[in-house]
Amino acid sequence: MNSAVFLHGARDLRISTYQPPAPGPNEVMLDVAAVGVCGSDLHYYKDGGIGGATINTPFIPGHEFSGWLKEDIPQLDLQSGELVAVDPATHCAQCEWCKKGYYNLCPNVKFLGAPPYQGALTQQLPVPLTGLVKLPGDITASQAAMLEPLGVCVHAMDLARVRVQESVAVLGCGGIGLGIIQLLANSSCGSILGVDPQPHKVDKAIEAGATSAGTDLTVINEYTSNRGCDLVIEATNSPDGFAHAVRAAAIGGRIILVGIPDGDIYSDIAASEARRRGLDIRFSRRMGDVYPRAIELVKTQQVDVDAIVSHHLPLDGTGHAFEWQANNKSGLIKSMVYPGTVPAAVQLNSF
Ligand SMILES: [Zn+2]
Ligand SMILES: [Zn+2]
Repeated sequence: MNSAVFLHGARDLRISTYQPPAPGPNEVMLDVAAVGVCGSDLHYYKDGGIGGATINTPFIPGHEFSGWLKEDIPQLDLQSGELVAVDPATHCAQCEWCKKGYYNLCPNVKFLGAPPYQGALTQQLPVPLTGLVKLPGDITASQAAMLEPLGVCVHAMDLARVRVQESVAVLGCGGIGLGIIQLLANSSCGSILGVDPQPHKVDKAIEAGATSAGTDLTVINEYTSNRGCDLVIEATNSPDGFAHAVRAAAIGGRIILVGIPDGDIYSDIAASEARRRGLDIRFSRRMGDVYPRAIELVKTQQVDVDAIVSHHLPLDGTGHAFEWQANNKSGLIKSMVYPGTVPAAVQLNSF
């Protein structure tokens, strides 16, 4: 019998048997291989919702995932047993924004793992054929699941348009922040300064390629002699993320807001702090067509997504993964959950 993890409300996660619906006409059943636990899943877990999308009936979270096909799909050059990644978002292709090419902004998007669409923390899940992503042979189940958050990082970099030798601050050094630091380290930017209140994430930021890192904005003030950074990429879950990004930015600087603040609100900041700097501020919303580039980054080892996954757990460890992340467990960056068969090379953590 298939098992799945259901979120019943804030901090109420339960495993139960679950019969997934039969695949629709343009869908296929997948054996889920690996599912990354994301900061956005944590908002549902901690708050029982995210920005107005609240949990009314129990739902299965999880949108960063890979799986094994159970049948051949000749038109996509895919075979039974093959590992695929899945883009959790299906845009409508009909609305004004889709027609303009802004698929990531489609208000009619069907997003697996956001209510009412069931996510991937289940052993089996029907997925749309259009969401299947063919992979090169040597990518692991965990790496394939990491393509989705890596895509978020790629999209943020696209919006940022990094300039040669400019200074960059990255606020929040979780999975997204660390991915962005790795991408910045491969770019021609100048100094990269990481900020995260958790000391183990500060260490990870340095490993990922940051020039310097610290637990608060002092590192930026000291490194830039209070000038601030030309570009600030905010990837925190904190209501203070926006205010901190403004304070980290130099006059005439740019800010890219990637993080989702707890409680869906930014803390107060004096208008003058942003206004007098003349800041250029952009919001990053999910991602455009990024999978081919994310695959290439992993395949060519330009990005080490394995360095971002700190914990590996079976399905019945999911509750621990969420609780650890909600409590900022030391040493935790990102958990990967294996709902069914655990690949032989994976070393599971105890819980
Ligand atoms: Zn995510
Ligand atoms: Zn649309």
